[in-house]
Amino acid sequence: MTDNNEADLTGTTPRRRPKPDIMEIGGRRLKPATLMMGHGYDPALSEGALKPPIFLTSTFAFESAAAGKRHFEGVTGIRPGGSEGLVYSRFNGPNQEIAEDRLAVWEDAEDALLFSSGMSAIATALIALVQPGDVIVHSAPLYAATEGLIGKILGKFGVSWLDFPAGATAEEIGAVIEKAKGIGRVAMIYLESPANPTNVLVDVEAVVARRDALFGEGADSPPVLIDNTFLGPLWHKPLAHGADLVIYSLTKYAGGHSDLVAGGVLGSKALVDRIRLMRNTIGTILDPHSAWMLLRSLETLELRMTRAGENAAKVCAWLRDQPQVEKVVYLGFPENARQQDIYDRHCAGAGSTFSLYLKGGEAESFAFLDALKIAKLAVSLGGTETLASHPAVMTHLSVPAERKKALAIGDNMVRISIGCEDADDLIADFEQALAAIG
Ligand SMILES: *Cc1c(COP(=O)(O)O)cnc(C)c1O
Repeated sequence: MTDNNEADLTGTTPRRRPKPDIMEIGGRRLKPATLMMGHGYDPALSEGALKPPIFLTSTFAFESAAAGKRHFEGVTGIRPGGSEGLVYSRFNGPNQEIAEDRLAVWEDAEDALLFSSGMSAIATALIALVQPGDVIVHSAPLYAATEGLIGKILGKFGVSWLDFPAGATAEEIGAVIEKAKGIGRVAMIYLESPANPTNVLVDVEAVVARRDALFGEGADSPPVLIDNTFLGPLWHKPLAHGADLVIYSLTKYAGGHSDLVAGGVLGSKALVDRIRLMRNTIGTILDPHSAWMLLRSLETLELRMTRAGENAAKVCAWLRDQPQVEKVVYLGFPENARQQDIYDRHCAGAGSTFSLYLKGGEAESFAFLDALKIAKLAVSLGGTETLASHPAVMTHLSVPAERKKALAIGDNMVRISIGCEDADDLIADFEQALAAIG
């Protein structure tokens, strides 16, 4: 968290600094699972409270006028690097800063920012990086609200876009970037992997290689952004594969209990600072209470995701052998050699969200969904509880029929996010629900 010590600048009595964090022991670098319990927080600064209090305050008292001036130079970007102290809760706060420090640990990111939702993280990042006349190159499909933001909202401000299918080859990706270069300044390459609900992985390494081949080290080289909500931060760490900014809906696996809405952006300090300035201006920061909840969630992130991933592997292996099932589209069963190759190079696990295609149509899907006893019928994913939904009539209802067909969002498709329950109990639930199809 921000070090609020201004003694050297102001000559006032120094405030106590947080104890330096212990990041390694005897040359052994501590793992994220360990750092989640204390990184970025010193109990001595909060009356010894083992857990950080929730700082319900809209503003922070300055040590001196000079300290206030210096903090504002940081907040407004007059001095790069953000504020060195706590200023006003639209800019920063202790709960948010501790959670940001801990989130950054998972991907070894230089810096991280929290937002009031995944969409406000995406919107703030995009608005910070585009100007009229720019082109955004993106993988397709994207989360529907992200596609709407790029196509409909940024379009109003003279920003255009070109896309390539998520599973495109390096050559295909390169051709699209090259075409975009001929249209205007390429503001960014925006990815989402795996694509939802097709579960197709994007070759991030190929995107970065093509970008570098086309732009070199030039100042006009567009940053690669990636929405890592479905696999991060445990199973996919795109910064390690050359992406510049990773974006999250922390509402999903990171929050993990279906009880908060939050977003995050991780990356280099230089890029994150540009987005921070926009967040400071428009106020898309997460509130302290949700930041505290997120902090609690991060302590069990590895446990939860590991368990959910193991459960999903077991459930999917069982599901695909059932007579009522047409196919299971799950990252653990790559659909072709190219997807297998991308998976092997990028992923440490197959996640716990997949698509189940039943034999039949809407009636069969509805019969299955309505019969579930453990799995809840709800959209969203990444929570401790198993959720099931029907994309064609729910999340993707407004997608035109042709596009639905191209994305294989059929009436017989059920989307499932596996949670942390007992895997055999889940299988028992799916078994009786499949039997209920009749
Ligand atoms: C849910 C989701 C979002 C939006 O996040 P919110 O927290 O709901 O605003 C963005 N991208 C992906 C991939 C998502 O699943």
